[in-house]
Amino acid sequence: MTWDKEVDWLVVGSGAAGMTSALRAVDLGARVLVVEKSSRFGGSTAMSGGAIWVPANAGMAGFGVPDSHAEGLRYLEHITAGRVPTARLTAYVDAASRMVEYLAIHSHVVFEAVPTYCDYYAEAPGGKPGARTIEPTEFDALRLGAERTQQRLGFEHRRPLPFLSMKAAEIPTMLRGGLPRLLLVARHAAAYYLNLRARLSGAGNTNYTLSAALIARLRLSLLDRQVPLWLDSPLRGLVLENGVVTGALIDHAGRSMRVRARQGVLLAAGGFEKNAAMRQRYQQMPIGADWAAGCPDNEGDAIRIAEQAGAALDLMDQAWWCPVFMVAGEATPRVIVMEKGLPGSIIVDAAGRRFVNESSPYNDFVKGMYSAHHSGTAAIPAHLVFDATFRHRYPVGPVRPGSIQPDAALPASIQDGFLTRADSLPELARAIGIDAEGLAASVARFNGFARSGRDEDFGRGDTLHDRYYSDVAVKPNPCLAPLERPPFYAVKVYPGDLGTKGGIVTDPHARALDVSGQAIPGLYAAGNSSASVMGETYPGAGGTIGPAMVFGFLAAEHACAPQS
Ligand SMILES: Cc1cc2nc3c(=O)[nH]c(=O)nc-3n(C[C@H](O)[C@H](O)[C@H](O)COP(=O)(O)OP(=O)(O)OC[C@H]3O[C@@H](n4cnc5c(N)ncnc54)[C@H](O)[C@@H]3O)c2cc1C
Repeated sequence: MTWDKEVDWLVVGSGAAGMTSALRAVDLGARVLVVEKSSRFGGSTAMSGGAIWVPANAGMAGFGVPDSHAEGLRYLEHITAGRVPTARLTAYVDAASRMVEYLAIHSHVVFEAVPTYCDYYAEAPGGKPGARTIEPTEFDALRLGAERTQQRLGFEHRRPLPFLSMKAAEIPTMLRGGLPRLLLVARHAAAYYLNLRARLSGAGNTNYTLSAALIARLRLSLLDRQVPLWLDSPLRGLVLENGVVTGALIDHAGRSMRVRARQGVLLAAGGFEKNAAMRQRYQQMPIGADWAAGCPDNEGDAIRIAEQAGAALDLMDQAWWCPVFMVAGEATPRVIVMEKGLPGSIIVDAAGRRFVNESSPYNDFVKGMYSAHHSGTAAIPAHLVFDATFRHRYPVGPVRPGSIQPDAALPASIQDGFLTRADSLPELARAIGIDAEGLAASVARFNGFARSGRDEDFGRGDTLHDRYYSDVAVKPNPCLAPLERPPFYAVKVYPGDLGTKGGIVTDPHARALDVSGQAIPGLYAAGNSSASVMGETYPGAGGTIGPAMVFGFLAAEHACAPQS
């Protein structure tokens, strides 16, 4: 066998899973290479909120939220409902806080708690009211030097104001409004304008938060360790010798290269969200790649290549579901996390009927959308309907609150196509092509619930999660307000996702398993290339990047730790 390049640990994909694994492996003394298909590093991770979900993390006690590995495991066992082997759940719970502490000590990757962000099923056994979700601390991207321009970006392209570098922990303050919001905006403006180095160099807003901070911090940690990252270098195949994966075929610098990987290959190349054919093969209709909000290069390459090498696949019908808005002229859909739960809006099907608790976790919301659609009335797309009070107070995708961006100030592309406006509910129903009587009846019934504070149909506002994205000034239920003040508005809602979560079956060390449950020597998978440790559910904010990082970390430890 002749090789063009030899390393110990070959990492395919430069998202959270890949870069965390590379970092751990190099610290264990391995020679590491990261290969990335795209011309930008960071993957979907770089387009995300960047939060990770870590039970029993060190910061929790400080916020008065006691936790333990046992409680974390209890919660995961409950919500995954038998879909995931306990050994994998245990591996996650045991390693997550250890990994965070390791990164804090040995790298630039530092997290802080989002104290009030609750588990998505906080009332379930082992669930917590906050602080399991942690987010990266702010980071000045100028520290990345020339590498800064090679990082994929997400929310940074969509800041409501150019100087706003919001953290997840600040979102409740933004939603609450009033003086706290003004002070927050002022703090961000000051941080932006006082960063003279960035201002004078014309670098734009380099004060990264969320995923941009996470990926930049991972990348800087790898730069410190001089780990090479090949961009524009897709995985094309695996090299197997006598059933052992000994390397991979990588397209690089205009040729196909055989890269030897002495300790193993980690497939961390994301999911198949952008592969329409795979989605149609494995997932329920209607489906395609357009509603997926993640990285355009995540086309399931690693999953297909691993399957050809004998790996078993699971959870291929699943995704990290999240409803989205489609905005003309924007390549990536906008995820709907906040808007669907804010008071003064409902989401309806073609009959004008509500079909799910709008405030429920986004993963459940989309599942509800599909079941409604398949039960006989079109719910894809569904319609977010709201009144003038809602429009005045809250943002909707690219549309800022009417208090700062009135209708007259909206660009034509938003007025014709994205946002439909009408003076009455029947006119609105006609304009968007749904049943007018059904909509009127739904609004009348919902307005009654808003006044009593109890959603008798779907229990909106009953859980801690529902109330996280709500308006505490609205009483008696912060998720419910009547739709009564014209004009009325509607925006189409699609069943999107943050990435797929089906893929290569792995064991607690992230080793790829074959169809008989045996580990394929030399082959590992983590992140959305692997079948998720979360099964069909979503534990809380950070429930996808957390496992991606943890199993990348564990894979490196299994493959590269010196044998005792
Ligand atoms: C808007 C949005 C917000 C989100 N917010 C959160 C959040 O706050 N918390 C959370 O936990 N999750 C969140 N998610 C989901 C999360 O971003 C993903 O689930 C996670 O980042 C996946 O990480 P990964 O390392 O598996 O893959 P990615 O980060 O997608 O990295 C995979 C990389 O592999 C590369 N690749 C693909 N094919 C090949 C190939 N053949 N060869 C080489 N490289 C290849 C891709 O180009 C990509 O760079 C969000 C997602 C979106 C879109």
